[in-house]
Amino acid sequence: MPYDLIVIGSGPGGYVCAIRAAQLGMKVAVVEKDKTFGGTCLNVGCIPSKALLHASELFEESGQLFDKMGIKIGKPKLDLAAMMKFKDEGVDGNVKGVSFLFKKNKIDAFEGVGRIAAPGKVEVKAAGGKNETLEGKAIVIATGSDVARLPGIDIDEQRIVSSTGALVLDKVPGRLLIVGAGVIGLELGSVWRRLGSEVIVVEFLDRILPGMDHEVCRQFQRMLEKQGVRFKLSSKVTAVDANGKTLKARIEPAAGGAAETIEADVVLVSIGRVPFTEGLGLEAAGVKKDNKGRVIVDQHFATNVPGIYAIGDVIAGPMLAHKAEDEGVAVAEILAGQAGHVNYEVIPNVVYTFPEIASVGKSEDELREAGIAYNAGKFPFTANGRAKVNHQTDGFVKILADAKTDRVLGVHIVGADAGNMIAEAAVAMEFGASSEDIARTCHAHPTLPEAVKEAALAVAKRSIHM
Ligand SMILES: Cc1cc2nc3c(=O)[nH]c(=O)nc-3n(C[C@H](O)[C@H](O)[C@H](O)COP(=O)(O)OP(=O)(O)OC[C@H]3O[C@@H](n4cnc5c(N)ncnc54)[C@H](O)[C@@H]3O)c2cc1C
Repeated sequence: MPYDLIVIGSGPGGYVCAIRAAQLGMKVAVVEKDKTFGGTCLNVGCIPSKALLHASELFEESGQLFDKMGIKIGKPKLDLAAMMKFKDEGVDGNVKGVSFLFKKNKIDAFEGVGRIAAPGKVEVKAAGGKNETLEGKAIVIATGSDVARLPGIDIDEQRIVSSTGALVLDKVPGRLLIVGAGVIGLELGSVWRRLGSEVIVVEFLDRILPGMDHEVCRQFQRMLEKQGVRFKLSSKVTAVDANGKTLKARIEPAAGGAAETIEADVVLVSIGRVPFTEGLGLEAAGVKKDNKGRVIVDQHFATNVPGIYAIGDVIAGPMLAHKAEDEGVAVAEILAGQAGHVNYEVIPNVVYTFPEIASVGKSEDELREAGIAYNAGKFPFTANGRAKVNHQTDGFVKILADAKTDRVLGVHIVGADAGNMIAEAAVAMEFGASSEDIARTCHAHPTLPEAVKEAALAVAKRSIHM
């Protein structure tokens, strides 16, 4: 009997789609080419990076803050192998969780590379050479993304690494040069700086974290500089000479001019990610891609070929696990005849450094560009009781609300635990809240989210603690 749905790829897009479809009564198969489920996110992305961010943050904190709190433990000593084991155990627990959920939901999992042989037919080529063909009424492509490469710079995952190699280094690099000041570069740069590396970040643009609110990024760059991260903006790495004992990176001004050489022990290339469709047979199946290699879909995640759908990093939109998950749910519901939908206006974005950065909705630049009049309310953590008592006062909350209707259009937070705090803003925006709605919602004291309430009050210039 054919499957109702065959999902290719078991990342957060694919596995969530499979589970939701099974919940809705469909007979589902998942095809995964890697040995473990969970895709980039669980194996080499969100989960291992957050494990190292957590462990390295505590390592640094134990060296800097514990003493002040009266906790005398002496200078902390790093056991990198143990820290890597801690990370690997976390990954293992998560990928096993996906296996468990597949079994629980009676989803058939196939290990091998999936290729669309024809609409409704997926050929699975297993590592051992065994081939089998699955038949299904619908196919969802959830094959995700891969590391973007720089021409002329060969990633060997030993000394010139991508994020994948940077998650498994067996010793702390003395000097780490990071190409690209995006989220992944800054997160992994933070990990290795905390563990002892000298970190320099080279960025082509004149700012870090392109796409995020300007004010947030300017302040955040200063915070990272205070922590010891150096930045070389408006510059490009054009070559890395790996012949000697140390790597020699050639850096040129983005606008042209004299080159300089910077030596490093490890170079991390983190210039973004590209959609992954290798071996899928899209050309033969007639599935169209755009000029960035992303599978083109309509509002219902349908490609141009009937019965073939796509979600996650392989289609347009922010390359984020929760965006992929929500698309997985939506397409499963659409296939079941329901009204699956993703609200792209309310997708939170978090940078898990210290302090964290979190945002949802529009930035000030976007609102200005769109000619939308807005009021901004801002509240610093220096005036928040809990942040003060925790000695974590860096950062602020900024709320942008429509000047006419007061509807919240964007929320931007820099600060400890910003990633958790943004959830409140996302819920408020989903419900079409005004800044007054947030301002009149009772927030527990003493908590960091009180700063969200105060920023909402500040929209109407009536915050209490400023
Ligand atoms: C270092 C790092 C940190 C990140 N941190 C975060 C974070 O904190 N928060 C966040 O939201 N996002 C984060 N991301 C991004 C996040 O990992 C991706 O957005 C997310 O994994 C995309 O999910 P997906 O299901 O579309 O694809 P993927 O997770 O890439 O999964 C695709 C799966 O498809 C499989 N596959 C591909 N082709 C085939 C084929 N032909 N046959 C069978 N299987 C195939 C792949 O092996 C893979 O398992 C991070 C990424 C990296 C690299």
